[in-house]
Amino acid sequence: MAAHQEKKTSEERKHKSTQNDTQTSQVQWGRAWEVDWFSLASILFLLMFAPLIVYYFVMSCDQYQCSLIDPLIDLFTGNKHLSDIWNKTPTLTYRAAGIYALWVTFQVFLYVFVPDFCHKFLPGYVGGVQEGAVTPAGVVNKYEINGLQAWIITHVFWFANAYYFHCFSPTIIFDNWIPLLWCANILGYAVSTFAMIKGYFFPTNAKDCKFTGNFFYDYMMGIEFNPRIGKWFDFKLFFNGRPGIVAWTLINLSYAAKQQELYGQVTNSMILVNVLQGIYVLDFFWNEAWYLKTIDICHDHFGWYLGWGDCVWLPYLYTLQGLYLVYHPVQLRTANAIGILMLGLIGYYIFRMTNHQKDLFRRTNGNCKIWGKKPEYIECSYMSVDGTKYYSKLMTSGFWGWARHFNYTGDLMGSLAYCLTCGFEHILPYFYIVYMTILLTHRCIRDEHRCFSKYGKDWKRYTAAVPYRLIPGIF
Ligand code: NDP
Repeated sequence: MAAHQEKKTSEERKHKSTQNDTQTSQVQWGRAWEVDWFSLASILFLLMFAPLIVYYFVMSCDQYQCSLIDPLIDLFTGNKHLSDIWNKTPTLTYRAAGIYALWVTFQVFLYVFVPDFCHKFLPGYVGGVQEGAVTPAGVVNKYEINGLQAWIITHVFWFANAYYFHCFSPTIIFDNWIPLLWCANILGYAVSTFAMIKGYFFPTNAKDCKFTGNFFYDYMMGIEFNPRIGKWFDFKLFFNGRPGIVAWTLINLSYAAKQQELYGQVTNSMILVNVLQGIYVLDFFWNEAWYLKTIDICHDHFGWYLGWGDCVWLPYLYTLQGLYLVYHPVQLRTANAIGILMLGLIGYYIFRMTNHQKDLFRRTNGNCKIWGKKPEYIECSYMSVDGTKYYSKLMTSGFWGWARHFNYTGDLMGSLAYCLTCGFEHILPYFYIVYMTILLTHRCIRDEHRCFSKYGKDWKRYTAAVPYRLIPGIF
């Protein structure tokens, strides 16, 4: 398998030539080397407030039936003091610490010690040893893709132990939700701090490190590009996918079990959330090899943003709809439920097809059919730090001809569908669509900035050919 992969070097690398060939003026691409005041202010804001935001949301469900306004009213009217709220907050428990330690250890075990076997019998699934994209230093990392297998094994364990052997209750996650938050924070901070120290003293690839000279920026956005322990334990692939995204569906199942326990039934809104988010999670693991080519893995360095974000932000805030539905069991009218399901499925279809079109286009170097026709594209070039020139292509047909990030548009439609399952009584479940809109719009701008510094004038030709970012004719 490995030998086969060695031969299968990416199409881009086949077109290597020397620096002298370059006709373009672009500089080396990657994360910003200089930190402007706006980035610094945003980073300080997030470092200070992101953990508080997570706490506030979870606490407001625990103590205020998911009202985001009532805690503020209580505090401003003097009805309650911060200490009253804090004193009512469940603390870290040995039980939660044990559950969390077991959980992370189990995921590490599945990631490192169980080579993928799914690709051997699942037609169309790409797993096992796969190559990532070329890093700015010209390195091509290898990854063991076994996330789908980890997800399946974890869920089989979950159902067997919760419903057959009765080792624990299926509500275990909901019942320990706030104590587990403290554990997730400890891991998130520990891994981000370790990554920072590692970047300074024993980086995996020194040429792919970036030091801006600003401590907070480096801590938040990361120094090392692909920190690893040993040959295979890749921080980005593990933390992005395993503790958070494998947990996502389990967390939702635990919420559904809690609804059943409290009200004797699971509402159609809870089923919709479980199904739509379940499709998204399964899609992620089915396409984990494709994920190696996304911005998270290809361009972002590993710091607090990814380390803490994957341990805390993702599992706690991406699952807010299910949490809300435990406190407010919404039973949707059938027509509304069908409408939301359709919105979610169409959003998912656009998201998947757009990503698939780019993946197919890049894998075949443009020798494929998009909507039954040969794809149209713009030829472009860029350079790595060692001065090697690479060639690439930017597609201008299919969904990529409609807008430069139509995959984000599909993602946003799906995100809106999750929120709509919760009705309109509270704003808390709508946090997700607000957050995703900010995240993906910012990501669009960030990515385009990076692509411009990577491709230079070729990128300008591309934006002239595809002028809109998310919604054709509007933005
Ligand atoms: P994309 O998959 O859109 O990748 C952007 C990269 O693709 C660019 O940097 C460029 O890279 C290349 N590219 C851009 N335009 C073209 C083109 N026309 N033809 C070929 N290649 C092109 O972005 P992401 O990695 O951010 O997103 C992947 C998916 O993940 C999206 O569907 C997004 O919605 C989802 N996502 C979900 C998040 C969540 O929290 N739920 C968070 C972030 C993303 P190159 O340098 O190779 O040219």
